[in-house]
Amino acid sequence: MVQQTEKSQSLFERACKVLPGGVNSPVRAFNAVGGCPRFMARASGARLWDVDGNEYIDCIGSWGPMILGHGDPEVVEAVQKAVVDGMSFGAATGREAEMGELISQLVPQVEMIRMVNSGTEAVMSALRAARGFTHRHKIVKFAGCYHGHADSMLVKAGSGVLTGGDPDSAGVTPGAAQDTLLARYNDLASVETLFAENPGQIAAVIVEPVGANMGVVPPAAGFLQGLRKLCDQNGTLLIFDEVITGFRLALGGAQEYFGVSADLVTYGKIIGGGMPVGAYGGRREIMSCVSPLGKVYQAGTLSGNPVAMAAGLTTLRKLQRDPGIYDRLAQKGQKLAEGLRATGLGTVNQVGSLLCLFFQQGPVTDYESAKNSDTAAYARYFQHMLSRGIYLAPAQFEAMFLSDVHTQEDLETILAAAREFANQ
Ligand SMILES: *Cc1c(COP(=O)(O)O)cnc(C)c1O
Repeated sequence: MVQQTEKSQSLFERACKVLPGGVNSPVRAFNAVGGCPRFMARASGARLWDVDGNEYIDCIGSWGPMILGHGDPEVVEAVQKAVVDGMSFGAATGREAEMGELISQLVPQVEMIRMVNSGTEAVMSALRAARGFTHRHKIVKFAGCYHGHADSMLVKAGSGVLTGGDPDSAGVTPGAAQDTLLARYNDLASVETLFAENPGQIAAVIVEPVGANMGVVPPAAGFLQGLRKLCDQNGTLLIFDEVITGFRLALGGAQEYFGVSADLVTYGKIIGGGMPVGAYGGRREIMSCVSPLGKVYQAGTLSGNPVAMAAGLTTLRKLQRDPGIYDRLAQKGQKLAEGLRATGLGTVNQVGSLLCLFFQQGPVTDYESAKNSDTAAYARYFQHMLSRGIYLAPAQFEAMFLSDVHTQEDLETILAAAREFANQ
């Protein structure tokens, strides 16, 4: 199957002259898999079309937000209406109150919430709130977890940082990183050691409740519960970074799915329904520290933007009306995982609608084991799948994201292409 790529190539050449690497986010580049990134023109349902007219089954869903598929008619209509009403006021609006009410209804642990504009901003602000509340400085994060690109979180971060081969970013001062303590995912003893070495100094432990930026790494039985217990024993806040898992695993996110409550949570991706949105929230006592109520300063010109709120609210309401969606998503995830496992290509980890095929045979439980994957084999697999009209993440250490509009036939097409690759 020969695909035309002339227009993508020409746009890429132009983009490279004015955008670093030709992209506005490194995870869109094809550096890890080779070739020219496909420039997208439009999307509908579970399909993408690039500027040369090639059609793809979309397996990344904008890295999570598009859980209802592209161009959901209700979301589009709500956005169109909001645009006409006014794109930004810099003043309070009703949709923001509705958003706060809806989230605390769906996630009872979130008694108060603050809307921001990205997952990065949500994490950065949640860490500040945790520090302001506890009057402590240190934060525990796990190797391979990605929490956006705030300085203090670019220490052994996953996603594009991991793909780039650099555990840490240039431009982060030792000062910015010195209060970040590193633990090993699924290893409670590593967290206990940090608590023992830093008594009374750890403000928060931040974790992706399902690791989804080093491929997909589920929490081992008891891991999240163990973190909760350690945090309680040490007067430390537990932050779930639910930028991916929020509203994807369940309406109540990972807190509901695993039955573990966090003190603060961060959201992004689905909460904006495709618009640039993030949020952080949690216990009233902690969120009351945030300005103008409290002394932790945090602000945003476009925070709670009416168009973004319309997209997010409509997406969340649609999920709320259809709780069966999570069983359907999980069934699809399971079917795809089983089929990919049967190809013998590697290890498949799956939680609900998130999954990852690691090109290795060993179990993948943390950053170290994820890194054993054969990234050159992934690159060949990626190119094969792309040529068959399947758009995967252009890097090994990312998740596949399924949506409610992926059909059984789509899954069959993906599996047939993977089998073809395995047999060649
Ligand atoms: C994507 C992601 C972020 C960062 O969100 P942005 O909107 O890209 O800034 C933070 N945490 C996790 C777990 C993510 O997957």
